[in-house]
Formats: sequence, C-alpha cells, structure tokens
Amino acid sequence: MSSNNNKTSSPEPFLMNSGNGTYSYSRNSRFQREALVIIKMMIDEAIAEKLDIQSLSSISKSLRIADLGCSVGPNTFLAMQTLIEAIENKYEAECLKHGYRLPEFQVFFNDHAANDFNTLFSSLPPGKSYFVAGVPGSFHGRLFPESFLHIVYSSFALQWLSQVPEKVLDKDSPAWNKGRIFYTSASDEVANAYAAQFAEDMDNFLKFRAVEMASGGMIFLMVPGVADDCHPSQSGGGWLYDALGSSLMDLANKGLISEAQVDSFNLPVYFASLKEIISSVERNGCFSIVRAKLTDAILGNYDDPVNIQAYALHIRAVVEGSIVKHFGSEIIDDLFDRFFQKLTQVANLDPLSYKGGQIFVALKRK
Ligand code: SAH
Repeated sequence: MSSNNNKTSSPEPFLMNSGNGTYSYSRNSRFQREALVIIKMMIDEAIAEKLDIQSLSSISKSLRIADLGCSVGPNTFLAMQTLIEAIENKYEAECLKHGYRLPEFQVFFNDHAANDFNTLFSSLPPGKSYFVAGVPGSFHGRLFPESFLHIVYSSFALQWLSQVPEKVLDKDSPAWNKGRIFYTSASDEVANAYAAQFAEDMDNFLKFRAVEMASGGMIFLMVPGVADDCHPSQSGGGWLYDALGSSLMDLANKGLISEAQVDSFNLPVYFASLKEIISSVERNGCFSIVRAKLTDAILGNYDDPVNIQAYALHIRAVVEGSIVKHFGSEIIDDLFDRFFQKLTQVANLDPLSYKGGQIFVALKRK
C-alpha cells in the first residue's frame, strides 16, 4: 500500500482512555451512542434512497466498510450493525426485482496505532455478521488501496485536528493562546488558526477518501458542530474545555503546575459548522452531497446533576491521557475534582445560548 502521502511526522496523537475501567472511553461514551440513535433514521434513508446496489454488486461480491476513528467500542459495533442492517434492507428490497444476492461484509476498524485495539477485538459482538480487520494509522493520510472501500463511516472523530495549530503555541504570534487550552473563549486570531487547521485536515480527509473509495460508495460523517456563523464562544461543548482550562490555571495559580505548562498545552479539537464542511466537500469536487444537517444538541440537560457527572467523566475519558503526558499524573484527581466543581457552578447556564449539536453529512463518491 502506498504510504508516500501519509503524515508520518504527525505529533503524538491524543488517545481516549483504554480498557473498560471507571474512566475508560468504552464506559464514558454514552453521548456518542445517543447521537447515533438520533441519526439512524437519516442513515437508513440515505442508504435506501441513494446506495447504488446495481453498480456496487457488479464490482464486488463483498462490501467493504471502514469505521475511521472507531476507538475501543462499543459504539462502533452499534454503528456497523446499523449500517449493515440498512444495506441488507436495501438489498432485500431490490433482490425481489433484480435477483441480487446479499454480499458478504468486511469491516475495517481504523484508529491511531496506539488505540487499544485489544479491547476492541476482545469485545466484538458474538454472532456478528461481518469479517473484521484492524487498520492502524491516521485518517488524515492514506489508509487503503485505490477504489477499495464502499462505505466509510466516521463519528465523533473528525473534530480531532491532526495537530495543535502551530501559531497558538508561538509566543511571537498574535494567535498565541496564553493562559488557555482551547479557542472558544480566546481571541479571533486563535479561533482563525483552529479553523484553518480544520479546513486543511478536512481537505486531506476527503482527498484520500476520494482515492480509496469506489465510485458510488458512500460516506457517513457525524461530528459535534456549531450553527453556521455562530461565534466560537457559543460553541456547545466549548464551555467544558474552557472549564478544564480554567481548572488548570487554578492549579498554576496555586503553584502546582507552571503557567508556561498551561500556555504550551492546547487541545487539538475544533467544532466546525455545516458551512465549513460543505465548503471542503465543494473544494474537493469528488463527492455529491446526499444529506447535510445540524441536529439538536444532545448535551442539553444542564440542570441535571447526573449529567454533569457524566460530562466530567466523558471529558476525563477523552483527555486524561494527554494531560498526564504533559502535566504528570500527580495533578489528575485534583484537576478533575476542580473541573467537576466548575461544571456544577455553570450548570444553570441557559443551554439555548449555546449553538451546538451534531452535524450529519452523507456523501456519495461520484
Ligand atoms: N467513533 C467512536 C469513537 C469516537 S472517539 C464513537 O463515535 O464513539 C474519537 C476517536 O477518533 C478516538 O479513538 C481517536 O483516537 C480517533 N482519532 C482521532 N483522530 C484520528 C485520526 N487522525 N486517525 C484515526 N483515528 C483518529
């Protein structure tokens, strides 16, 4: 497989917590699972209306599906089952007319090489109706042979940037993000640097998928996003990372870590708008848009104390590994206690002032 376009020099990736303990991603990814339930109907419709079984059946007896940024499960299993059931329904409906046979399915689980693939593979659902392979590497580079894939799925992964935008760590740049770890409450320069990195990453994602996908193949993307033209400070989810940044600054003020350590730590995450994603699809030119929609925020019940606990655990599952690497493990419990207290304090915020939600996009390879 050609790897000459791979970003092999990428910085070390941020990884979700592995295994299945209290702070693991597998036990703290309920929000993502709920979002899949919300978009299931849109996936079913897009497949029923736009999947071109005739052309796919003529090129291959098996259907190859990739989940890019699958993490450790269990959400990926539910997603793959949802896709396969929708495709089987489509075949069954068309079989009657044209005599097609159900294809065999092969699922390629992709994530960074350091993802906990052992947990993933040891928890595969019994009785699954597909063959399985693991594909380590970044989806910002090439992962598969040319014209190989029929379906690409990716949920809650494309908000991860390939790197922290360089300018936000550069003391001499107007985009230097001093005293913060995220862009949502920072200056416009910082937000613009994040937006530019997202555009570059999204362009690469589509460029490589265009090569890897067979004509007629479909992509289903789900990412946490924001309403078009909303100010970054209104990003749903931004308040969680801002609260984490401010908890880190509290530790710096107490002398438990240094302020320079906070200045040199930024989260490579960006919440895009539908407009930004569609612009990237248009720049790419190889895909037609089947469906593009911003659904309602699912992180809506700010006054529910159980949910605050769940948000805190979710963020911990997502960022703990990177924080330990940068600041050391001694501060972790103190940090997340403070973080939890801050979330409780902002719990009465008006959720309507946040313009976040899930972006769902279905594309078809021309
Ligand atoms: N799709 C799952 C997991 C989302 S967590 C769900 O919906 O629950 C996001 C995952 O994306 C993480 O496991 C992270 O390691 C992975 N990821 C982020 N950037 C990536 C990249 N460039 N290439 C491959 N995987 C990536």
